[in-house]
Amino acid sequence: MVEVTLGSTGITVNKNGFGALPIQRISDEDAVCLIRKAYEGGINFFDTARCYSDSEKKVGIALEGIRDKVIVATKTMSTTVEGFWEDLEISLDNLKTDHVDIYQFHNPSFCPRPGDGTGLYEAMLEAKAQGKVKHIGITNHRLSVANEAIDSGLYETLQFPFCYLATDKDIELVEKCRKANMGFIAMKALSGGLINNSRAAYVYLARFDNVLPIWGVQRENELDEFLSYVQEPPVMTQELEELIRHDREQLQGEFCRGCGYCMPCPVGIEINNCARMSLMIRRSPSEAQLTPQMQEKMKLIEKCLHCGQCKGKCPYGLDTPTLLEKNLKDYLEILDGKEY
Ligand code: SF4
Ligand code: SF4
Repeated sequence: MVEVTLGSTGITVNKNGFGALPIQRISDEDAVCLIRKAYEGGINFFDTARCYSDSEKKVGIALEGIRDKVIVATKTMSTTVEGFWEDLEISLDNLKTDHVDIYQFHNPSFCPRPGDGTGLYEAMLEAKAQGKVKHIGITNHRLSVANEAIDSGLYETLQFPFCYLATDKDIELVEKCRKANMGFIAMKALSGGLINNSRAAYVYLARFDNVLPIWGVQRENELDEFLSYVQEPPVMTQELEELIRHDREQLQGEFCRGCGYCMPCPVGIEINNCARMSLMIRRSPSEAQLTPQMQEKMKLIEKCLHCGQCKGKCPYGLDTPTLLEKNLKDYLEILDGKEY
């Protein structure tokens, strides 16, 4: 069993964390079964967020009676002090607990600091003083905010996308966190579905002993894969090394991570799916990408106003409208019979 310690928090948990975003899409009953099974299988870190609709509620029900045996992290997207307290109280109520182990600012566009005029960091300190929050964390998709958070010395954990498609700059962040004694929580360790071999994803992250991946789990068979890694952590093989090398070559450069931070689009284009269709159609079962509903969604790209809103919001600096056009062209060719 491999464990990770999250920097100065001293929190030590199994290297397979549970990402509770996807359980929004399943029933209460199925979500509770999944979380209980995860706990019984050795997973003891659960990450949710106020904005994941009913995820916190499901986590709260599932963890009744075992709350003190697990670590719970949640997040607030609020940009006001009033909203911060409202979110925290709702989260505590949903999670049926009197404290959150790690409370994180959820992808803010800046790094909250004391005296920055927002009052957010001061509210976080007050919540900590009241015992409602044990440790202060931040999540982000932007390298600049993540670096600022580490340099500020104000945060005990950073949650950032990290997987085997990582760039040198992403790896630098992990090493900076290690030096700063900050925990590193890896989101999108399967790159939003583009990585389809979880064993390869695990073995890459195993190289970084300070990184805790949180796997987004929706189905029992997905959970079973990760539970098998709790029991028998996979090791690197030549085959996995080759697969990682191949994927890095194929997915290098400008590709959409599906994060959705560029949305909503004024004409309703589902950018987080449509801007990476060419990859999804080749890397996951293609039937789901070729349904009449999906064809409608792709054809909506023709209505793009080129307003540039999405491009301005993409934390990866992608030229989103151009990427959408390229994906649509490829998609229409596939519908016309092109081999893929
Ligand atoms: S540029 Fe096109 S895709 Fe992007 S937000 Fe505007 S209309 Fe939507
Ligand atoms: S275009 Fe950028 S912001 Fe939009 S979903 Fe893709 S990676 Fe995220």
